[in-house]
Amino acid sequence: MTQQPRQNFLFLQVVLPILLAVGLSISLYLTIRWSSRQSDLVSSARQEQLVGLIVSRLQARIAHDQESSTVWDDAVNAVQAADTAWLDMNLGEWMHTYFQHDGAFVLNPKREVVYAFLAGVADKKSAYLHVKPFADPLVREIQKRLNAGDTTGIDDQVLSIGESDFTSIEGHPAIISVKPIVSDTGEIELTAGQEFLHIAVRYLDGDFLHELADDYQFDDLRFSKVKVQDDARSYAELKAASGATVGYFTWKPFEPGSAVMQATTPVLAGVALSLLVIMALLGVVIWRRSAHLKASQAQLAHLAHNDILTGLPNRATFARRLAKMLDASDETQTTAVLYLDLDRFKQVNDTLGHPVGDQLLIQVAARLREVAGTDTTVARLGGDEFTSAISGTSQEDVERLCDQFITAIRQPFAVDGQPILIGLSIGVALGHGNEIDADELTRKADIALYHAKAAGRNRFAIFGTHMDELVRSKRDLERDLRDAIESKDQIEVHYQPVFSAADHAMKGVEALVRWRHPIKGLVSPDQFIPVAEETRMIESLGEKVLREACAAALEWGSLEVAVNASAIELRSETYAMRVVSILGQLGFDPKRLEIEITETALADNSGHCEKNIGALRAIGVRFALDDFGTGFSSFGRLQRLDVDRIKIDKCFVAGFGKPGGNEDIVKAMIGIAHAKGLSTTAEGIETPEQNDILKKLGCDDLQGYLFSKPLPKRQIDELVARPSEARTVTN
Ligand code: C2E
Ligand code: MG
Ligand code: MG
Repeated sequence: MTQQPRQNFLFLQVVLPILLAVGLSISLYLTIRWSSRQSDLVSSARQEQLVGLIVSRLQARIAHDQESSTVWDDAVNAVQAADTAWLDMNLGEWMHTYFQHDGAFVLNPKREVVYAFLAGVADKKSAYLHVKPFADPLVREIQKRLNAGDTTGIDDQVLSIGESDFTSIEGHPAIISVKPIVSDTGEIELTAGQEFLHIAVRYLDGDFLHELADDYQFDDLRFSKVKVQDDARSYAELKAASGATVGYFTWKPFEPGSAVMQATTPVLAGVALSLLVIMALLGVVIWRRSAHLKASQAQLAHLAHNDILTGLPNRATFARRLAKMLDASDETQTTAVLYLDLDRFKQVNDTLGHPVGDQLLIQVAARLREVAGTDTTVARLGGDEFTSAISGTSQEDVERLCDQFITAIRQPFAVDGQPILIGLSIGVALGHGNEIDADELTRKADIALYHAKAAGRNRFAIFGTHMDELVRSKRDLERDLRDAIESKDQIEVHYQPVFSAADHAMKGVEALVRWRHPIKGLVSPDQFIPVAEETRMIESLGEKVLREACAAALEWGSLEVAVNASAIELRSETYAMRVVSILGQLGFDPKRLEIEITETALADNSGHCEKNIGALRAIGVRFALDDFGTGFSSFGRLQRLDVDRIKIDKCFVAGFGKPGGNEDIVKAMIGIAHAKGLSTTAEGIETPEQNDILKKLGCDDLQGYLFSKPLPKRQIDELVARPSEARTVTN
């Protein structure tokens, strides 16, 4: 992952959720704060209203208190009689103790003080001087109203008119209330405007404030002349009737919102913190998971682009790199594509098993990579096929690289302590400039590989135009072979007699297929059998030969017939069934039939080959191991083979009598075969010397041009028709 996407990824997965959590917490906090502030404001406004209400109620109550004594005949009489003791008892002291009035004054109609009481002041009469400036306007007003007979405000509850106001007496806020002293019964006639007046004073600080604070739970309630700008305090203005400000009641407001806020803030902080931690953890978990996912995706991408076994780039990656290489190369540059194929790998796989084969491929890949270095691509196409591409190179460099590859692979490998020798064939195609097609280049490299293999393996071949011709002729061969198998006459079977070493009597024949091509003439089985195997035409070809050989042998008395079977045929699940069916159809005795197989057929992991052999041996068919000694691990495998005979390959016989001849090897082969109860046949005997040696070595049966070449049926018919001694060969 590059740095930039990784950072973006981290921001999206971790930082963003945390920022969201922080943002969410802050907005939640601000919302709660705002609503608590609102509720504080509402509560504060209500408290201010409450103070106003209490004060105005107190104003009304004072007037009402006064009426308890001022609307009373006794009072009228007492003021007129200037009965100070009575006045003191009922209008002064009494109102002070009973109604907590702070002052009480009685004025005669001339506005002279006839009675005075002011709490805490000794000289009562002069005390009125403190009150007079504030009481005067009210006194004048009420006298005016009394003169005018104004009864406004009188009802069931209010018995007399009155005037009252808020004021400040010597720095103390106070209510001054004036009431006329009138008859309650109406029996005492008073001239309008000539009534005595009663003035009540109630200070609004001191006791009043304490009571108010206690009754209504006002915190730190005080009276202040001025309003100080302070958010922590509430103020309720006390105004005189004139509109002038007397002062302010001030207290620490009850703030329910702040209380809630205070209580919830720690909880809120806890929730926000938890939210933050959860989001952060979640972010980290997601980030880690995503990183893990990215890693697995990268691993998947690696698997998609590379071969699982060897770790080399795979076919698709190679194709992509080659296309890029060709795009980037200019006219003067040479691009080379190499097709590499291991020699004898199939045998390793077949004889030592797939796990060993896999280990070998891993080691091969490592060696190829080491030789190629970092600049040259080496890829695995599948199986034992590899490929390489180089651009901006010369033919000499490519040839040198091929030699290095071949040398590296020819060095012995060791898998599980077992030494393994294999080889490497390489096909090379060279292209110039950027016009070349990648597909065309690989096709040519493949053809060149085919030639390298055909030329004897362990070598490289560079594509030339003549090779195309060969490929075409191979394709033609395939097509012609298909036609031949379907035709009645192109496929023939020849028979090579086999003789007993003991008495030189002809004991049987080996059926060998022949293809009489309408234009090319006789084509050797070595040329067309591999083609038939590749295209699976071998199955129908094999059946054709078997059927024809058995049919022919029906006419040859007790002569034994050997038929060659390819590994491909043996690995078919239905092989034994088909052989049994042909024998049954012809009425041929299975005991007269011997099937020649090669070692590779036995190295079949599916187990079908062994089952086929077992089934056919059970009905009397015998099996021979052909070309013995040329296989990959002949002696080792011989231990496990279920066969009746070995056929010593003609290459051993050909070496007889020459320096370094193979007599000892053949002697050992025969010895082992006999020890295991197997018969032996030597093939390719061309000279009497070879014949002598083989007889001496104890070989059971003999076959070769010395005695007879493979012959058409007609000639075998003639041989069989002769008396049996005439069929023997004497050397
Ligand atoms: P093979 O089964 O080992 O057959 C022996 C080959 O050696 C035959 O070649 C035969 O003509 C040749 N030969 C016999 N005696 C001598 C000799 O003294 N000197 C030399 N130099 N060669 C000798 P041929 O017929 O060309 O067959 C080649 C191979 O083709 C056979 O080897 C066998 O593996 C395969 N083949 C032939 N016919 C069939 C068939 O019907 N089915 C299958 N699957 N393979 C067949
Ligand atoms: Mg044979
Ligand atoms: Mg052979």
